[in-house]
Amino acid sequence: MNGAVFFLGVNFVVAICFCIVFAVVSTRSRSRVAALWFGAGFGVASLAAVCEIAVAYLPWPRPWAIGAFATVLGGMIFLLFGIGSLYDVRINRRLAGLMFAVSSFGNVFVYDLRPGTPLHAFSYQTPFALVILASAGVVLQALLRSNRQLLIDKVVCALLAVTGVHFIAKAVLAIAVGAGSVATDYIRTDYALISQSLTAVLMVAVGLTLLSVLVLEIMADERSVSESDALSGLANRRGFERRVRSAIATFPNGPHAVVLCDLDRFKTINDTYGHHAGDMVIQSFGTLLSSCAPKEAIVGRMGGEEFSVFLPNTPMDVALMVAQALRGGTMAMSVAGLPPTSRITASFGVANLTSPDALDEMFRQADVALYAAKRAGRNRVHEATSDDGRPRAAHVRPVN
Ligand code: GH3
Ligand code: MG
Ligand code: MG
Repeated sequence: MNGAVFFLGVNFVVAICFCIVFAVVSTRSRSRVAALWFGAGFGVASLAAVCEIAVAYLPWPRPWAIGAFATVLGGMIFLLFGIGSLYDVRINRRLAGLMFAVSSFGNVFVYDLRPGTPLHAFSYQTPFALVILASAGVVLQALLRSNRQLLIDKVVCALLAVTGVHFIAKAVLAIAVGAGSVATDYIRTDYALISQSLTAVLMVAVGLTLLSVLVLEIMADERSVSESDALSGLANRRGFERRVRSAIATFPNGPHAVVLCDLDRFKTINDTYGHHAGDMVIQSFGTLLSSCAPKEAIVGRMGGEEFSVFLPNTPMDVALMVAQALRGGTMAMSVAGLPPTSRITASFGVANLTSPDALDEMFRQADVALYAAKRAGRNRVHEATSDDGRPRAAHVRPVN
C-alpha cells in the first residue's frame, strides 16, 4: 500500500464519520434539512475513495474513474444544497443537476486525455472549483444580506473560497509535477499523494466548520429555550438578567431605569374566571408590555404575575412616563375569555440605576416602590424613594 492509498483510506473514514455525525446532528438541529444534505454530501463523496482504489487495482478502470469524479462532484453539489438551505439562499437545483450531468459525461472523454496536460487538469478540476466557489458565494450573499453575521459564518465563507481555489491550484500542480501517463497511474504519483492529503485537510476543515455552525445554532436554541418563558413568550428571570447585564456592560454610564410591574388582585381573576383565563391575562399583559415599551427595552416575566421592563439609556422622568403608558394600556386591555366589562389593572414601581454594579439595589428599590404602589391602592406608578422619603432622582413625583 502506498501513501496515496493510505490517504484515500483516511478520506473514506473521515467522510463516513462526518456523514454519521451530520445525520445525528440533524435530529437536534433547526437546520435539519441542511444537516441531512451535508451528511448525504459526505456519504456520497466517501465513495470516491473506493472508486479511486478500484481504478488502480480492478480491471475496466474507466467506469471507476468516472465514478470517482461523479461521486466527489455529487457530494459537493449536495454540500451546496445544504449551504443554500442553511443560509436561506435559493439554489437553482436544475442548473446544478445539468452541470453535474454535463461534467460527468464530459469526464468520459477527459479520461482519455493524458493526465497532467493543461486540458486534462483544468477539465477535471474546474467543475469542483465552480461548485465550491458557488457555495462560498452563497455564504457571502447571506453575509452581505446580513441575515447571518457570526464569525463562524465568515470562516465558512473564507474556507470555501480557499477550497475552491485549491482545486485550480491542483490543476496547476498536476501540470507542474505530472499525474501519471494514464488514469491508472494516478494513484502511484507524488501528485496523488499531495492532492489527496491536501483534499483531506480541507475536507476536514470544511466539515468541522459546518458542524460548528450547526452546533452553535443548537446551543443558541437551547439557551433561548432555557431563558424564555413559555406562557408569555418573554424572557424569564434568567434571560432577563443576562440581557440586562449585557446592556449595562455596553452602556456603563447609563442612565438606566427599571419598571417592576405586578398585576392587581390577580388571585381574584383566577378564582373568578378560572386558571386558564388567568393564563390568558398573563399572556395579554406580556404582549402589551413588549408592544408598548420602547423597542430598546428588555422585557421579562420574573415569575407568577410579576414582570420587569428594563429601560436602557432612559432617565427617570422618561421611565415614569413609560410606566404610566403601560398602566393606561393595561386598563384598556381586552382579554379573550374575560367579560368585556372586566378591567385588568397593574401596579408599577420605578427605580433607576445609580452605578453599574448597583443592579440588585435598583431591583430592590423598584420592589419597594411597587409595594408602596400596592399599599397606596394599586393601579398606580410609584417612584423609588431614598431613605429620607424623597424621590431618588429629583424628577416627577409618584403619579396616580
Ligand atoms: P396583589 O394585587 O397584591 O398583587 O394581589 P394578587 O392576587 O395579584 O397577588 P397574590 O400574590 O396574592 O396572588 C398571585 C396569584 O397569581 C397566585 C397564583 O396562583 C397566581 N399565579 C401565579 N402564576 C400563575 C400562572 O402562571 N397562571 C395563573 N393563572 N395564575 C398564576
Ligand atoms: Mg399581583
Ligand atoms: Mg405578585
